[in-house]
Amino acid sequence: VASIILTGCSVATMASDTTSYGLIANAAIVISGSTIGWVGRAADLPSHYASWPREHLGGRLVTPGLIDCHTHVVYGGNRAREFEIRLNGLGYAEIAAAGGGILSTVRETRLAKDAVLLADASARVEAMMDEGVTTLEIKSGYGLDADTEMKMLRVARVIGRAKPISVVTSYLAAHAIPAEFKSRADAYIDEVCIPTLEAAHAARFVDAVDGFCEGIAFSPAQIERLFNKAKALGLPVKLHADQLSNLGGAQLAAKFNALSADHLEYLDDMGIAAMKAAGTVAVMLPGAFYTLRETQAPPVEALRKAGVPMAVATDCNPGSSPMTSLLLAMNMACTLFRLTPAEALAGATRIAAQALGLKDRGVIASGLRADLAVWDINHPAELSYRIGANPLHLRIFGGEA
Ligand SMILES: [Zn+2]
Repeated sequence: VASIILTGCSVATMASDTTSYGLIANAAIVISGSTIGWVGRAADLPSHYASWPREHLGGRLVTPGLIDCHTHVVYGGNRAREFEIRLNGLGYAEIAAAGGGILSTVRETRLAKDAVLLADASARVEAMMDEGVTTLEIKSGYGLDADTEMKMLRVARVIGRAKPISVVTSYLAAHAIPAEFKSRADAYIDEVCIPTLEAAHAARFVDAVDGFCEGIAFSPAQIERLFNKAKALGLPVKLHADQLSNLGGAQLAAKFNALSADHLEYLDDMGIAAMKAAGTVAVMLPGAFYTLRETQAPPVEALRKAGVPMAVATDCNPGSSPMTSLLLAMNMACTLFRLTPAEALAGATRIAAQALGLKDRGVIASGLRADLAVWDINHPAELSYRIGANPLHLRIFGGEA
């Protein structure tokens, strides 16, 4: 599909604010190579396009291709047995004794060859693509040593080259403290996280630097040392912040002009104000909230009132969110966190692009990438309303169906 005009459709451009979809009825979209040449009412199509080939979409709805801005989709093994053990009534001590938890994923990821990691992640990425995802963020963070962090990022880059999807990487060595550095988090930051960041950056594996600021992970002071290195290398940062407690993670992220602060169940007013001032996106991850059976939801009403942009992502990971459906994450963001369907769709398109620092996508507008999703639905609210449905009709990536 080099150059074509899509007609017979309605379009949710997502170009305006979060309270509307930027809907155009009886629309036409001109795809010129890999970009959008024009979008508007079919009746207003400029006459010089009259001779271009057309494809009639049978009244379907077109949205920007979906963007999943927070995933851990590359990992070894899975934690289905741990899930089962917990539901059989055993506690964390037994699970840890059985070798469970995040460190079991670290062990499996260290052992896995590139080809195995690639094959396992590819199946998950394909499930996402089948729901219209055209851009995907992938984090490292299950290696926690130099070789495995590099391996995860290398595999993420291979996925981006091998499949019709854009992959954006985040370096997340500051995700957990590995067994060999138990009670020595500072040494782990200085001896592993920072030197490996330099190596991964030199290999062009890193698009952003991430961390987990939490009582069970890293302190604000430790994250700050890592972020100072990121800044010195010219890399943007983002942070898993205020998920299980409030350590001031959102404020720390804002201080470094983070692209996003993610989770945010325990975010307070100071954090909200700091994020607003810094232009930091709040990424909602309802899959983890659901899986962990949390009870404190992020302060969505306060974020909305303050005008902090909200994204929605799957947080696809083997422990707290084994979810590959961004549509389900949108539904959960509405049902569990009370986002509106328009906010949820903006959060998986325009705002997700902002959370990744991408200005060329997330909206259907002239000059942007032709990443589109064509849906068998009449109104965009259906995307968030349905549970477990996949109404995708056609996915277009860089102008190619
Ligand atoms: Zn995460």
